[in-house]
Amino acid sequence: MSPTSLRRTVSQSVAGRSPVGQLPIGVLALQGDFREHLNVLQQLGEAAVAVKTPGQLEHIAGLIIPGGESSVIDKLSRLYGLAEPIKAAIAAGLPVYGTCAGLIMLADTVLDAIEGQQSFGGLDVAVRRNAFGSQTESFETELLVPELGDVAVSAVFIRAPVVEAMGPSVRALATLDDGRVVAVEQGSLMGTSFHPEMTGDTRFHEYFVERVRSRR
Ligand code: GLN
Repeated sequence: MSPTSLRRTVSQSVAGRSPVGQLPIGVLALQGDFREHLNVLQQLGEAAVAVKTPGQLEHIAGLIIPGGESSVIDKLSRLYGLAEPIKAAIAAGLPVYGTCAGLIMLADTVLDAIEGQQSFGGLDVAVRRNAFGSQTESFETELLVPELGDVAVSAVFIRAPVVEAMGPSVRALATLDDGRVVAVEQGSLMGTSFHPEMTGDTRFHEYFVERVRSRR
């Protein structure tokens, strides 16, 4: 064993992880629009890394789970051995932000899931997939998000879920005019039914980055 690899082994066994202040934010890159999230993070001056292997989870300060297809993200994450380490990281308090399919992956309960579909869980919510039906595949609307200031967020919904029930420790960040909850946070976790990575409005990402920085 070379001195370098020996040193690495020793420091890993002592520290477990690299110092959190130097770690990038990971974006789960199994399926979906992870590139858009990586772009937004880079735009914000944050180091960002595409996460595809369990080992990479040891070296991130936060994780974004992108939009896409939750049943596919579920299958691939189990296939690549990422599901259990992600659940462990969530339980250990890693800040995680899920958009659309990512919100579904964070939900403790998934309604209208396909047969055998699983989520990572962590967010004490019940989320219904494809809640707007096939008539409303996608739409864009203005949302007031008090946490992000007075200017409305333009929110893009694509075959989007809604939050149908939430536990006492979950806070709604945004609701549609009809009262349905479409953005939530709970401890180190947050999720949106819509896709802020697609609109050029970076405030949700800034909110998440702030959460990661305060934990660093
Ligand atoms: N309908 C998708 C699902 O169930 C989510 C769509 C999206 O992420 N834009 O996973």
